[in-house]
Amino acid sequence: MPIVPTHAPSLRLARRAAALQPSATLAMVGRVRKLQAQGVEILNLTAGEPDFTPPPVVEESGIQAIRQGKGRYTAAAGTPELRAAAAQWIQAEVGLPYSPDEVVVTPGAKLAISQALLALVDPGERVVIPIPSWNSYVEMVRLCEGEPVLVPCGPDGYPQVEALEAASQDGAVALLLNTPCNPTGAVYPESLLREIGAWALEREIWVISDEIYAALTYDGTRHVSPLRAAPGLREQGVWIGGVSKAYSMTGWRIGFLAAPRPLATAVADIQSQLVSSPNGISQVAALEAIRQGGADRERMRQSFERRARLVVAALKAIPGLECPVPRGAFYAFPRLRNFLGKTDPATGRTIRSGDDFVEVLLEADRVATVGGSAFGDPQAFRLSFAASEDTLHEALRRLAARLQALR
Ligand code: PMP
Ligand code: GLU
Repeated sequence: MPIVPTHAPSLRLARRAAALQPSATLAMVGRVRKLQAQGVEILNLTAGEPDFTPPPVVEESGIQAIRQGKGRYTAAAGTPELRAAAAQWIQAEVGLPYSPDEVVVTPGAKLAISQALLALVDPGERVVIPIPSWNSYVEMVRLCEGEPVLVPCGPDGYPQVEALEAASQDGAVALLLNTPCNPTGAVYPESLLREIGAWALEREIWVISDEIYAALTYDGTRHVSPLRAAPGLREQGVWIGGVSKAYSMTGWRIGFLAAPRPLATAVADIQSQLVSSPNGISQVAALEAIRQGGADRERMRQSFERRARLVVAALKAIPGLECPVPRGAFYAFPRLRNFLGKTDPATGRTIRSGDDFVEVLLEADRVATVGGSAFGDPQAFRLSFAASEDTLHEALRRLAARLQALR
């Protein structure tokens, strides 16, 4: 008879796990799914996940890859074909030259960032993060036992070099940049990137440049890679990108990391111990995406551009609501400064933060968004416009009515 303990010993977690905040975006996505499973209709503006399917050639190549037995381990850093194609693609996309052995294919851009941090950051070392930022950066740094140093951006969504300098007085090993930015939609201008890059080079701070939204900019805004803006920064930088967002391949889990050879090799070695290799089938499909998915990608970008305009117009029409115009990615990040302290008559709740408003909007209007505290601005909330125009129209109508009803 197996011995069944009557009292489970209390679970003792390692500090890094006990202190971890789970992903706020994914938690909200989970809440929405649960409500939907109960039959509640929700207008879902939570996740940064395109509502399109991948380009048909990508889906077809995935099916063929299964039939051809590609669902096996590959080389830890990815297949030679995909590394070579990704190197060419990075050159074409952002003008940065990498050789195939400086490119690592990762299971999503998310793991590329974590593995870059694992390779660069020792316990106790500081990593500078301009905020608002994607909620995962801070926790990724903490998981590596590094110390996140948060630098608030101005209302335009950009950090000033003086603020970066002040935050790095006690030393820093890396700066995490994200342009186009999740959650603000800010796209950094080249002149600022040149300044930031020159500063990072002088300070010998590595720049981890998350460009997962590089292909998604609107109304003529041009994406410039931080690693290209400042001469020499490629040698002290890590480029992160992938197919999840622009090719609608979120669940295929393929990202790319490019870095000078010794760092790329270190990341590949970490990956060999953590995950063995990225998914073989997805690698075949990602190769097809970057080779042949361009026209479909542009069609999807144009849809996001129309939605961005729709969202901006609707938010601008709400008196008192502040919202920088998103120039890229697919999020708007309005601030509720002028509404805080007011009470919602329907629920009786007082709005003290963006997170409070998100709760009211979900409960009273069945519109799901994400509170700003997870991104570093408790007065704001994020809505994703990776949703249909009909959904956006109706969600924004309800949102405007809710804000205008606050007393
Ligand atoms: N960086 C940012 C800023 C993101 O918003 C996301 C979305 N999850 C990622 C990285 C990760 O992308 P992936 O799905 O390829 O892991
Ligand atoms: N990046 C997306 C978002 O911010 C997907 C969820 C996540 O990984 O955080 O919503």
